[in-house]
Amino acid sequence: MPRVLIPLLVDDSAPALGARLHGLDGQTMGTTWQVRWAGGESPSAPRVQAEVQQALDLVIAQMSTWLESSDLARYNGAEAGSWHVLPAEFTAVMQAALQLADGSDGAFNPAAGALVNLWGFGPAPRYTDPGFTSPDAPAVDAALARCGWRDLRLEPLPAGGARLLQPGGLRLDLSAIAKGYAVDLATQRLQALGLRHVLVEVGGELRGLGMRPGGQPWWVDLEPPAPDAALEPVRLALHGLAVATSGDYRRFYADPQGQRQSHTLDPRSGWPIAHGLASASVVHDSAMWADGWSTVLMVLGFEAGQALATRHGLAALLVRRRSPAEGGGFDEWMSPALRAMA
Ligand code: AMP
Ligand code: MG
Repeated sequence: MPRVLIPLLVDDSAPALGARLHGLDGQTMGTTWQVRWAGGESPSAPRVQAEVQQALDLVIAQMSTWLESSDLARYNGAEAGSWHVLPAEFTAVMQAALQLADGSDGAFNPAAGALVNLWGFGPAPRYTDPGFTSPDAPAVDAALARCGWRDLRLEPLPAGGARLLQPGGLRLDLSAIAKGYAVDLATQRLQALGLRHVLVEVGGELRGLGMRPGGQPWWVDLEPPAPDAALEPVRLALHGLAVATSGDYRRFYADPQGQRQSHTLDPRSGWPIAHGLASASVVHDSAMWADGWSTVLMVLGFEAGQALATRHGLAALLVRRRSPAEGGGFDEWMSPALRAMA
């Protein structure tokens, strides 16, 4: 039996009688996207498709680490002391990322691109490339010296957007938050088209508004960290809510010593996290914040993550992998704000 969570505030305006379920899927950011909505024939599916694609393409053009012509990639290659005008969307994500960095004392670091690359999780070389080996301590220290997010200067501009200083050699990586932002942006665009009952997903980060045809909410099951986790699934009604999950099981490699190397790094040490937290999920009004906070909790680990989630009133679910010495299996923790939804 799944455990069912529903938001505390419910708006009971259901889709019109006769509303149909529509769906579209596609590929973006090295992953997939999906949109589901309840409604009639207007707006048309091609119109919805174009709107979603435009929102996702905008995020890539501005914030992708993979696209050499993106605003972010150009910033990363720019010389020390140069200033860069950021468009409004990039600015909003950067502001949130700096707030998360500040609120987590650098456990979240939007300037960790050099480290992400070194560990094989950036554009090149990839950890999947033949001959890739994990870096040694001097290489980690050298990359760490280029991750100083406190040297970033973001100055709002009167006309909107902001300008950002490249202090020299610093490489931004917004992958821990940009997918969530893309979900928010696509959702906003669809609302502007008049849709009221929508579910948007990009690479596992989701946001839902309104309800399915027939008045059921958009139910979403939180992905268990392993198929045999023996945890009761948590079923969430995404009614005016977003959810994001960060996990060590989604992308990791086993190095020659057989250690699990997660794609989540601890930018305070320069090394991949190694504390046994298998996943961190956050439920929030905004997919960007859910995405960002779930990464923060993933970096912090089970105990420190609990403290921070409680302090910030986050609705969070943490799942810890027990060590073989502890007999294997998983421990789970729900924050007070998440428990309030049960
Ligand atoms: P997510 O799946 O949202 O937790 O994001 C993971 C991605 O964010 C990684 O693939 C890296 O590109 C980047 N990343 C890894 N560690 C951090 C960190 N501590 N702070 C910010 N971004 C990170
Ligand atoms: Mg994230």
